[in-house]
Amino acid sequence: MGDREAGQTGRQQGMATQAIHAGEIHDPSGAHIAPIYQTSTFTFADMTAVEDWTAGKTQALIYSRAGNPSRAALATKLAALENHGAGTAEDGATAEIFASGMAAISAALMGSAKAGNHILTQQVLYGSADHLISDVLPEYGITNHRIPWLDPEELEQQLEMNPNTSVVYLETPANPTLRVIDIEVTADIAHAHGARLIVDNTFATPVLQRPLQLGADVVVHSTTKYINGHGTVIGGAVVSTDRDFMDTEISALMRFTGGVPSAIDCWLTNLGLKTLPLRMERHCATAMKVATFLEDHPSVAATHYPGLSSHPQHEIARRQMAAAGAMLAFDLGSYDAATNFLDKLQICALAVSLGNVDTLVEHPASMTHRVVPPEERAASGITDGLIRISVGLEDAEDIIGDLANALES
Ligand SMILES: *Cc1c(COP(=O)(O)O)cnc(C)c1O
Repeated sequence: MGDREAGQTGRQQGMATQAIHAGEIHDPSGAHIAPIYQTSTFTFADMTAVEDWTAGKTQALIYSRAGNPSRAALATKLAALENHGAGTAEDGATAEIFASGMAAISAALMGSAKAGNHILTQQVLYGSADHLISDVLPEYGITNHRIPWLDPEELEQQLEMNPNTSVVYLETPANPTLRVIDIEVTADIAHAHGARLIVDNTFATPVLQRPLQLGADVVVHSTTKYINGHGTVIGGAVVSTDRDFMDTEISALMRFTGGVPSAIDCWLTNLGLKTLPLRMERHCATAMKVATFLEDHPSVAATHYPGLSSHPQHEIARRQMAAAGAMLAFDLGSYDAATNFLDKLQICALAVSLGNVDTLVEHPASMTHRVVPPEERAASGITDGLIRISVGLEDAEDIIGDLANALES
């Protein structure tokens, strides 16, 4: 960081520039692209170097579970992007990279909630985060309560009734119905009751939404999705401006629970992240065209996309997001209609996951959200006719052509 980041004019670099240059390692060999530090351990020159390190006079790389340059490069770049527009590097964000989004989410929650603490969160969450909070953490004495969409009044009430709440956890836009939650309002309420707000920013990415600047204390990512963008790696990240939390809780959980990523996965994710601002621009523009096409189509009963003025939280989305993202959902009215449609697609792939250059389409009721009990699915808008699309980077005309063809029957 430092001078290079600030640029010659003192003006903060643009996001596309940061995405390409922040955190990059310039290897002594002169290699323009950093090598992959594919090593488990690091050598000391001699015992004097060991003594200086143990005396705290120098920092050293020791062992790749504790730290690796390929991981540090990615962490620096992602932290710079989540901190974009928020002043200097000194009071900026830091990040830690994990082997999966779930490892990152586990660390963020375990670092913030201890036995006897309580977590407040929305009803429908990313499936594995849901299991972690509902089934795993209670066994360690961490309870939870769900508030359908973290409605502010209900959140206030719950925080008053449960003063042991240490975390409010949210996803916005939420999976799969693209419901938008106001981060600033939620942060203010959480803070008034001494709770930390953790936001899963996987769907929006720092290009569209920077929760730390809206008052969130911690951001978590599945870097598997847009951050990497090419579908080659499972990974995750925790980002925060709370240095103490990062340096004590998160760094200890990283080392002592050990969910560390490999150097090559970090290297690939770093490579993908370089084009995130450019990719998001096209992802969003194409998603808007796809959403408009679906909303106008007679076979589509409902289209859920925060960029449409018909979306119930369109105004919140406009306030807290730079653009509406590239995830959308639409309803074909029945399971049979959804099945017929999905079986006819030629370009769009039938697959879970999201944020890839390829368009991915899935059926939440039988794929990502099959474990949600039917009553809860119905209450949350996850109908049998609902289809979720992660709009990719193919030509908009080809994506829409594929959808149009599959809708004809
Ligand atoms: C995929 C995803 C996760 C989990 O991340 P993994 O990398 O699969 O462990 C968490 N939250 C959201 C919103 C996701 O899409």
